[in-house]
Amino acid sequence: MFSKILIANRGEIACRVARTCRRLGVATVAVYSDADADAMHVDLCDEAWRLGPPPARESYLLGDAILEAARRTGAEAIHPGYGFLSENAAFARACADAGVVFIGPTPEAIDAMGSKSESKRLMEKAGVPLVPGYHGADQSLAALRAAADDIGYPVLVKASAGGGGKGMRVVRAADALQAAVEGAKREAANAFGDDLLLVEKYLDAPRHVEIQVFGDTHGHVVHLFERDCSIQRRHQKVIEEAPAPDLPAETRAAMGAAGVAAAQAIGYVGAGTVEFLYQDGGFYFIEMNTRLQVEHPVTELITGQDLVEWQLRVAAGGTLPLAQADLAVTGHAIEARVYAEDPANDFLPSIGRLRHLRPPVEGPHVRVDTGVRQDDRVSMHYDPMIAKLAVWDADRPAALRRLRAALEAYQVVGVTTNLEFLGGVAAHPAFGAGAVGTRFIEAHEADLFPAAVPADDTVLALAALDVLLHRQTQAAAAAARSGDPYSPWHAPSGWRLNDDNYQRMTFLDGEEARAVTVHYRPEGYRLDLPGGSVTARGEIDADGNLVSDIDGFRRRVTVVRHGHDLVILDRGRQHRLTLDDPAARAGERDPGEGGLVAPMPGKVSQVLVEAGQTLEKGAPLMVLEAMKMEHTIAAPTDGTVTAVHFQAGDQVDDGAALLSFETGDTGAP
Ligand code: ADP
Repeated sequence: MFSKILIANRGEIACRVARTCRRLGVATVAVYSDADADAMHVDLCDEAWRLGPPPARESYLLGDAILEAARRTGAEAIHPGYGFLSENAAFARACADAGVVFIGPTPEAIDAMGSKSESKRLMEKAGVPLVPGYHGADQSLAALRAAADDIGYPVLVKASAGGGGKGMRVVRAADALQAAVEGAKREAANAFGDDLLLVEKYLDAPRHVEIQVFGDTHGHVVHLFERDCSIQRRHQKVIEEAPAPDLPAETRAAMGAAGVAAAQAIGYVGAGTVEFLYQDGGFYFIEMNTRLQVEHPVTELITGQDLVEWQLRVAAGGTLPLAQADLAVTGHAIEARVYAEDPANDFLPSIGRLRHLRPPVEGPHVRVDTGVRQDDRVSMHYDPMIAKLAVWDADRPAALRRLRAALEAYQVVGVTTNLEFLGGVAAHPAFGAGAVGTRFIEAHEADLFPAAVPADDTVLALAALDVLLHRQTQAAAAAARSGDPYSPWHAPSGWRLNDDNYQRMTFLDGEEARAVTVHYRPEGYRLDLPGGSVTARGEIDADGNLVSDIDGFRRRVTVVRHGHDLVILDRGRQHRLTLDDPAARAGERDPGEGGLVAPMPGKVSQVLVEAGQTLEKGAPLMVLEAMKMEHTIAAPTDGTVTAVHFQAGDQVDDGAALLSFETGDTGAP
């Protein structure tokens, strides 16, 4: 085993690798960018090395700088995590040249499998079934068009070097092919520095089922069963589980064998994942990932193995810890990826400070893999994942109950998250029935994106109670400071000379103003709410939770306050209210009209219109690149562009006005 390794990554995966190293007594070196100087992964490692400014290109992707750090700190091996340099054959080669062990497969295996086109050719030879498609060298539009015609629409245009759903376009008809090819090429060149494309039949109702494989340098290859990763948005996984629900035993066995055959075909060493689409009883190879997969925890939970430990042992020249016959599945595990993103806004990343962060309590049934702490920032530079929440229990229904409870307990305020959305999937009867598929989210859109509900009486009562209890605490503190603690002027009870002791409070729920009248009574506050009156009492406990008693119904909720904003966190639901303060409102500015704003920080990659141009609703105006994904800004209505405020290449902030647009008749028939 190594005595010291360098972890060439950040966030949850760097933390996760560091934990196993600590358990094994292996010293660790973290690397960090300026954005991560105070990050959790830096604290968890024994030493840390600064790489450079925040952009990944100037820090986590600098292979030479990372190797220099390994040399200077005496690290014998480098764990690349996933993403960044993990599937970079040139980096793996540079490690070998520098005499540092790359914890992963050989550069040749990375090369072979890093290209989806090349890997499909290899798998074809090994007799592994493929999704019908074209993975040839001729990349002319004519060749791709002929291939698509041959395969039959709909087709999927994919970046051969792709990953994370980037550089992928579904094309439903021939006339949309050219734009899709151009867009996918651009995105691929940008994200992977390689614009080679392939075309595949777009399967209409597949499941994504993948096999975890492991090889060592002594010629052994095993598989650690499958994972179902069908719940996806933007072709990116959000919920994964193991084992795959209702997979026939013979399919499971055949898929495992195909995974092992794929690994053996290239003499694979280390952790790898062979991905298949599964539809109508058949399974088809799509790609192999030559690294540790994000969703590896579910495999660890059902096998009781630590895959990072396996990686380290294999990289140090050891044999696989277990043979195929010694591996077995126990129970069921599900992982949900908690992201700072907005499901209601096409799952676009949400940037900001994690003002309040309280994960569920970990234990034998709940595991939280995270790389952030309260007050950390989710920045535009990296993946906006907050954590992977994984649960385990004896069977799927029990694991699902654990997942729902853990999602409800997860509290994040400061950025928009997908927590409620994940809770909706976990609670969905179709998910409960195991009826998963890669188009699950589309198919159940109406249930999974419910319209925002206005704050009900309970939420208003909780908000009012929280405000009142805080005022009481402040008043008590003020009284204690004043030297006259018994003066009625310090009492927060609405006491007034010549006045009935009641008070009005107004909360803004979005645009709606909601009034609550508070009457001070010896037994508590009587609150007049839109739907009637209640008696409310409570206290703030040592953890800052609001312990409420509303007409005798007692519950613990959390209210996070920021100025006049209150976020009420109640069993997985978040309600945001603002205490209306006329003085604070005076300074607000008019948001301006007719502007099209950037939905997130990013770079303008294309400007498709000029000032004065008249367009129809839905016409593309500008292409924005953020997190290496392209987002097209489209005309909201028929109208005219009156000004373009940015050019291609410009960096824009969240909320920046990109173009001015005037709604009007385009004169189109
Ligand atoms: P990436 O490497 O970007 O993750 P993959 O090739 O692994 O891309 O595919 C990601 C997801 O896209 C799959 O899990 C599946 O949901 C969808 N997908 C890929 N290929 C096809 C296809 N031919 N038909 C239907 N869906 C597909």
